[in-house]
Amino acid sequence: MSALLRAGAAELAGRIATGEVSAREVTAAHLDQIAAVDDRVKAFLHVDGERALAAADAVDARRAAGEELGPLAGVPLAMKDIFTMKGAPTTCGSRILEGWVPPYNSTITDKLLAAGVVVLGKTNMDEFAMGSSTENSGFFTTHNPWDNARIPGGSGGGSAAALASFEAPLAIGTDTGGSIRQPASVTGTVGVKPTYGATSRYGVVAMASSLDTPGPCARTVLDAALLHQVIAGWDPRDATSINAPVPDVVAAARHADVKGMKIGVVREFGGEGYQPGVEQRFAEALAVLEGLGAEIVEVSCPHFDYALAAYYLIMPSEVSSNLARFDAMRYGLRVGDDGVNSVEEVMNLTRGAGFGAEAKRRIIIGTYALSSGYYDAYYGSAQKVRTLITRDFDAAFAKVDVLVSPTTPTTAFRIGERADDPLAMYKADLCTIPSNLAGNCAASIPCGLADGLPVGFQIMAPALADDRLYRVGAALERELNNRWGGGLLDQLADSESGAYLNVGGVR
Ligand code: GLN
Repeated sequence: MSALLRAGAAELAGRIATGEVSAREVTAAHLDQIAAVDDRVKAFLHVDGERALAAADAVDARRAAGEELGPLAGVPLAMKDIFTMKGAPTTCGSRILEGWVPPYNSTITDKLLAAGVVVLGKTNMDEFAMGSSTENSGFFTTHNPWDNARIPGGSGGGSAAALASFEAPLAIGTDTGGSIRQPASVTGTVGVKPTYGATSRYGVVAMASSLDTPGPCARTVLDAALLHQVIAGWDPRDATSINAPVPDVVAAARHADVKGMKIGVVREFGGEGYQPGVEQRFAEALAVLEGLGAEIVEVSCPHFDYALAAYYLIMPSEVSSNLARFDAMRYGLRVGDDGVNSVEEVMNLTRGAGFGAEAKRRIIIGTYALSSGYYDAYYGSAQKVRTLITRDFDAAFAKVDVLVSPTTPTTAFRIGERADDPLAMYKADLCTIPSNLAGNCAASIPCGLADGLPVGFQIMAPALADDRLYRVGAALERELNNRWGGGLLDQLADSESGAYLNVGGVR
């Protein structure tokens, strides 16, 4: 495979900055890879090669003019189709937004463009970010590059699959209950959910506003840190944005050392329902961290057992409110506008045709949970559980620096396997949801293979201590890569299953 595809973002940016390779060559190589493999991976909903090449040319021109380039200038990125970008179609995986072209950029889009990052296109996702497999996309299902009969995770499965198939070295996602970390876990990539409020929600299609957190996706911890640094920071256009300095996540990734750190293993995560191979890889990664001088202690967070139930009341309640704006009048699809139907009939017909089954299920559950007479029993109780979970975290972080667990109980399941069983699908988020409810930060780092499929190691840290994720993640990554003789994805690129991707167009 072309070295330009294997290289990480940090390396590519360095080579572009010295002029050893042009941003145009780097972008063209990735567009070629998309053309070669995306009919099988199906990571992208839209690719805009012309726009990407023009952005790359602008970086090359700035370099030629002697301008200093930022740390990610000229590096290609795959953008989850939940972020608005002026002039680029944004569907959020839903037919109801088909044809909508936003007239503005999300704050994160602005930051990426200002940094010279080259946006290749928009990636597939579960409709309105609701799902764990991309099977809820209104368009098509994305395939896991490790095994194309399996799911790439969700909701940001397109972004994770683009990374794992070497279509892009960087991607961006959103995490409301696990949609960055769970896809990272099942594709062998790195995904970080920053502290809630540390990355702007402005211009990001809203799912559950008290939980939604944009974050970086990459193939290495350092690349994720570089992207984190570019996209994070206070935004006056987002009412819940935090006005606090961004921790130095890049320094943490570069000088990773866990000696003397206290790492807490969450007792509640493991056992029944967890794949034995996942638990084995997790235990081995813990031993690696212990070998590097970290102290491992067991910690109990008793209310985490109720996190999934609380999330599936709070999240749909917010979804039912946020999705009310898709009323056939303002965005995208309009059905039955024949001059005879009333406004209400047009709204009903449009919402009936435009939303998929999972979106409808959550709108109905959320509307019910918020209805007067049931509000206290459902939404009110769930909010109390949310507080108890936050207190569990506070008590744990008084004793340890980070908490760890498997990211998800199993490796990638087969496409179709859980499609008709919403509860089985929801269980993919068992370990990721508590951090969303508390507003803390968390990451998933590859820690090996179980039955030939990637396993993710989750690291959780307190709000505004995102640097700890990178410190622990980079230390673990360095040690595991030494043992493996390269990254987990290098194994895929070198393997027979990698051949299915036609990696580099050689095989
Ligand atoms: N799988 C979760 C859900 O379906 C995660 C959603 C997310 O993080 N966007 O709600």
